[in-house]
Amino acid sequence: MQVFGLLGNPVEHSLSPPMHEAAYDALGMDARYVTFEPARDAAGAAVAAADTLGIAGLNVTIPFKRDVLDAVEPDDVARRVGAVNTVDFSTSPPRGYNTDVAGVERALAHHDVGIDGRDAVVVGAGGAGRAVAFALADAGARVHIANRTVDRAESLAADVPGATAGGLDTRDRVADADLLVNATSVGMDPDAEETPVPAAHLHEDLAVLDAVYAPIETRLLREAAAAGATTVDGAWMLLFQGVAAFERWTGRDAPVDAMNQALRAALE
Ligand code: NAP
Repeated sequence: MQVFGLLGNPVEHSLSPPMHEAAYDALGMDARYVTFEPARDAAGAAVAAADTLGIAGLNVTIPFKRDVLDAVEPDDVARRVGAVNTVDFSTSPPRGYNTDVAGVERALAHHDVGIDGRDAVVVGAGGAGRAVAFALADAGARVHIANRTVDRAESLAADVPGATAGGLDTRDRVADADLLVNATSVGMDPDAEETPVPAAHLHEDLAVLDAVYAPIETRLLREAAAAGATTVDGAWMLLFQGVAAFERWTGRDAPVDAMNQALRAALE
């Protein structure tokens, strides 16, 4: 039996186990996906232990994505983003990848949203914002990063090819943009008054990806749909980072429909 898993703290509400186990079931694989919650300073020790125990692959989530960089051989994308979310133990040393980047590209491609040559606004400059900004810039978009803490946006823009940065006041650039990604946590609380981008900036020539996946339908996506924009919910991004991890580990095409159904059932 192959064992895959997730390293995080906390991991109890993770959606990865049902999503990956649906893939194993769909393909008749003898495999399990389990969660590990080591101490917050133990990322390196946990990766070494997983390697020793013969674990085939690990996903990595908060707070370990940066720390795991030092415990693996990161590929170029993971090194530039500064975060690893997928470890493949089939080589020695184990290889580290950032499939959040692939998740953004594949979620947009799945909805026929083009990136190359487009003007994109990314709101947020935390962990998700980093992956989104690199994904869009690497796929050929002109990226503007708007963040509540301007320093954080500027520091991210310095790493991302061609990116510009500003505070939340620069969200008005969405009015002239082709693509908007919300990479803030605003929208997770359905009762909150806040929205990451005012409805007045949304328009029918825009595609909107909301990284928030709980709830699946956020206020931003509702208002974007009302404005005639193309909408892509955060569960697609989550799905495709898992699909990319599965394909890294197994070398097989992932059963995307089975994984998507399991993910959405778990979210609901
Ligand atoms: P993070 O590193 O803590 O970053 C949070 C971001 O949200 C920062 O840019 C922060 O701005 C901004 N923010 C928080 N509260 C705000 C407010 N009231 N107004 C304006 N901006 C605010 O978190 P993260 O890991 O990037 O996660 C962000 C969201 O993405 C979460 O909802 C998470 O669930 C989601 N996510 C989704 C996926 C997926 O696959 N769909 C993957 C990863 C994350 P400051 O810098 O000013 O604090």
